[in-house]
Amino acid sequence: MPERTPCIAANWKMHKTVAEAAQFVDALLPRIAATQNDVVICPSFLALSEVVERSRGNAVRVAAQNMHEEVSGAFTGEVSAAMLGEVGVDAVVLGHSERRRLFCETDEALARKVPAALAAGLEPILCVGETEEARDAGQTEAVLERQLQTDLAAVDPAGLARVVVAYEPIWAIGTGRTASPGQAQKAIAFIRDTLRILGAEADRARILYGGSVKPGNAVELMAQPDVDGALVGGASLDPGDFAAIVEAAG
Ligand code: PEP
Repeated sequence: MPERTPCIAANWKMHKTVAEAAQFVDALLPRIAATQNDVVICPSFLALSEVVERSRGNAVRVAAQNMHEEVSGAFTGEVSAAMLGEVGVDAVVLGHSERRRLFCETDEALARKVPAALAAGLEPILCVGETEEARDAGQTEAVLERQLQTDLAAVDPAGLARVVVAYEPIWAIGTGRTASPGQAQKAIAFIRDTLRILGAEADRARILYGGSVKPGNAVELMAQPDVDGALVGGASLDPGDFAAIVEAAG
């Protein structure tokens, strides 16, 4: 079984000014100096350059929270993958449920964004997950399968190996309700099987859990065999809490 380096990503959403981002990085770096894990910070677009500069030479990588699929053009308010790469961004979160729900992000758009990110040398962190209604109706696996099949339709096996998937059940995001370790493991094992069917070298694919991860529940969640790390929202805003989650990942 190949080793998969745990990945812990901080999704700051629309939090932290540039000055606050700088303070956070300065407080975080000494706390995670010994980690062997892959640590990713996803600030607002405006704070990307600051976080890139402050974390240069350290273990931290930087991701944007969204991008447009075209290289350039008349798309007011949008940012391209090439623009992100130019300022030193390594990765990009795509398909977060808040973007799907509040900003009409569709699976069809994601099917264009994922290959565009890969073509520009960015690592896509693709979010998938079911609503509470879908889970209650026994539709969790059907939702995950449909999202993965559509969002990754135009990605070849070499590209699939570079995609990180984040399983983020919508009912657990920002609600304080966490999937149980068993629920997270089951869904993530299903995602791994689906990636294998899509042609990925699935044993190497990193699949994260996201949804109210905190220092107090991180150890148990990340002890699950298929859970390769976490995408953390609320608890990533505090450097101490985030560092504790990085440490919990082993
Ligand atoms: C997220 O925004 O991806 C997330 C998981 O948020 P929270 O940890 O606050 O639930």
